Formats: sequence, C-alpha cells, structure tokens
Amino acid sequence: MKKIAPHWQIIIALIAAIIVASILKQFGDATWVKSVLKICSLLGDLFMQALKMIIVPLVVSSIIAGLAGLAGFDGFKRMGMKTLGFYLLTTLSAVILGLIIVNTIQPGLTDGQPNTQLREVFDNAPAETSPTDKARFASERQDQAKDWTAIFKRMLPSNIVKAAAEGQLLGLLVFSLMFGIAMAQFPIDQMRPMRDFFQTLNDIMIRITQWIMVCAPLGIFGMMVATVHKSGAEVFQQLGPYFFTVLIALALHMFIILPILLKVVGGVSPISHFKAMKTALLTAFSTSSSSATLPVTMRCVQDNAGVSKKTASFTLPLGATVNMDGTALYECIAVIFVAQVMGLEMTFTAQMLVVISALLTSIGVAGVPSASMVAILIIMNNSGIPGADNAILALFAVDRLLDMSRTAVNVFGDSCAAVVIAKSEGETLYHNQ
Ligand code: ASP
Repeated sequence: MKKIAPHWQIIIALIAAIIVASILKQFGDATWVKSVLKICSLLGDLFMQALKMIIVPLVVSSIIAGLAGLAGFDGFKRMGMKTLGFYLLTTLSAVILGLIIVNTIQPGLTDGQPNTQLREVFDNAPAETSPTDKARFASERQDQAKDWTAIFKRMLPSNIVKAAAEGQLLGLLVFSLMFGIAMAQFPIDQMRPMRDFFQTLNDIMIRITQWIMVCAPLGIFGMMVATVHKSGAEVFQQLGPYFFTVLIALALHMFIILPILLKVVGGVSPISHFKAMKTALLTAFSTSSSSATLPVTMRCVQDNAGVSKKTASFTLPLGATVNMDGTALYECIAVIFVAQVMGLEMTFTAQMLVVISALLTSIGVAGVPSASMVAILIIMNNSGIPGADNAILALFAVDRLLDMSRTAVNVFGDSCAAVVIAKSEGETLYHNQ
C-alpha cells in the first residue's frame, strides 16, 4: 500500500480531530466523553514532552558539529568569517522584517484589543503549565522589566548543566557556539574524534526527531481533539490573520530582501539564481526539511549555479545547520503574536529579547519538519509569556503550510550565501544557463 505523505497525515489528523471533537460535544459531559478526552490530552502531552526531551542534545550537537566542520582546509578562516557574516546578515534582516510586519498587522488583536476567542483557546488547551514554571515566568518577566542587562547575563550561565536542566537555551547556545569555535581552532587530527562524536550525536538526534515526527499525526490528533472540544473549530478561523501575516513576511524576505542582498552584496542576478534553485526549493517545500533537501541544494548550487565543490560543501552543510531565515522570522512573529493574544505589553527590551532568542535559536533548530515549534516554546518560556504550552498546541493547527514555506526560505537563504561567497572567491557563476 502506498504510504500517505506526512503532511497529508497531519492534515487528515486535523480534520479527524475536528470531526471527533464535534461528535464528542454532542454527548455533553458524559463520563465516557471525559475518559476519551483524557486519553486525547495524554497523547498530546506525550508528543509535546517527547519534543522537549530532545531539545538539549539536539541543539548542542547541531551547533557544535556545524561549527567544527569549518576546520580542515586552507582559507577556512576567511571563508568562515564571510559565510557566518552573510548568514548573520540575512537572519538578522529576516527577524527584523518579521518584527516589523507582526507589529504592523497585529494579527493577535481585533479592533486593537487582544483576540478573546484565541485567548480562551490558549488558556484552555490541554497541557498544564506547572506552578514552578509559572513562578519562573513571573520572575523572569520582572527581571526583564527591571533590567535589560538580564538578557546578557542569561547568555553566560554560571552553571551550564543547570542551564540545560532548566531549558535555558540562550546560555546553552552561547556555550555551544564557543565550544564549536574553540574546537575549530585545533589541528584537524586532534579534534577529529570530538567532531565525529558531535556529528554522530547530531545524526542520532535527528533520527529520534524523525521518530517523534512519525507520531506527530497521533499527537496532533490528541491535542486538537481536546483543544477543539473546549474551544470549537473557530480556532482555525481565528488563526487566519496570523497565517497570512507569516506568509506575507516570508514572501517579502524571499522575493525582495534576499534578491536585493544577492544583487548588492554579491553582484549576482536573482533571476538566474531562482532558476538555478527551482528543484531545491520545490523539494524543500514538499519535505518541510532543509536537512533532507541538502543533497538537492548541493546539486543545484554546483550543477546549475556553477559554484565549486569546495565552496558548496563548506557553506551549505553549515547553512543547513545554522542558517534559517524563514525559521527565525517565523519564531519572531509567532512569539509576538501569542503575546498580543495574551494581552501582554511587549516593551522594546522584551522585543529585543525575542529578536536575539529567535536569532540564536534558529541556529539551534534542526532542519526537520516542525522543528521550530520547540524553539518558539523556549522563547516564550524565556520571555515569560504565560500559557506557552497551550499556545503552541493551537499554532500546530496551521503549522504545516507555514513550515513548507519557511523551509523553502531557509534553503534559499543558504543557497544565496553559497553563490555570494563563491563570487567573492572569484568563481564564475551561471555559465551553464
Ligand atoms: N522545517 C524547517 C526546516 O527544516 C525547520 C522549522 O522551521 O521547523 O528548515
């Protein structure tokens, strides 16, 4: 029997959840209905917990393996600096674009007020925020309001194990960045065992993520039955403005910002580049995974754009791990959107914390479907946004198409770096077209 594609499985799970929840509603508060809902909530919670379980090893190994891969050939420092500089430039412009768009459209507000129907969904979704978490959210919010230096203090946790145990990703990311950069400074033979270790660890974590994603339709079905039963199917309608805000911002980044950077920074023709990357973009769109698309991206960049193997194999694997423009932009919009719905006033400092977190977590997000949902959860927790677990469940409802689109933007961003760096190294491009 032909296997149903993962995105169809999720769409089917969502439709089934709406149908089952509507049927359950007909039976009111019957005991068996409560039991069914309990099982559904359990499925949703287990799925969320599985995602949370892999955060620390996944993020640490992907950053360290990506950075350690920088060593090993001449001119790596020069090319490394250029590549990282370009990645930083594109990701930062993506996050700032996201910030501007979400503050302009304000998808979480209706008539200038927080959207109450969505708020109810976020308040009532199945997963519970523990009292300890609530206390932590509160104290962190206070920290931020009082003192912007708290952001920087959190970047350098005094105890890295404690930071990992508490899911303080910001500190963990900075530590991993330092670890990877330090590693890359040792002779290749000396650090090979470490590099192989982190690379293998990363491969294993990606495999576990894939297993978890196999269970996604069931987990999503469970949590959506519970959510829709409480709030009604209106959640989908209510999320419409959010959905379009993300798509508009992604389109602006892909078709305006990146082409301008290609032309201005690299002197590369955007049209030739779009043509060269067609297959990779379609693959990214249909798989929702930039890691899975990497071999296709490498082929397009080398065969169609004419980038050398050396430049492509240096910039692209690194990009697939650390450079995710679409994801960074998405994280920023999602977090500010939830804050708008929750009626939280995001001060300039609070928004800057989101920008920095989105920038850093997009480095740590794996190139697999829905990976950024975990990062969004972390940023919301870090920013002290209450109801984060519940909000994430609701956002899952419209995630698939957004994931397909942001993955295409992620892959396109990586490929832009490859051609810009190749051009700066004196390579001749697009001679095949
Ligand atoms: N699916 C994305 C990618 O693979 C990551 C994400 O934003 O969820 O690039």
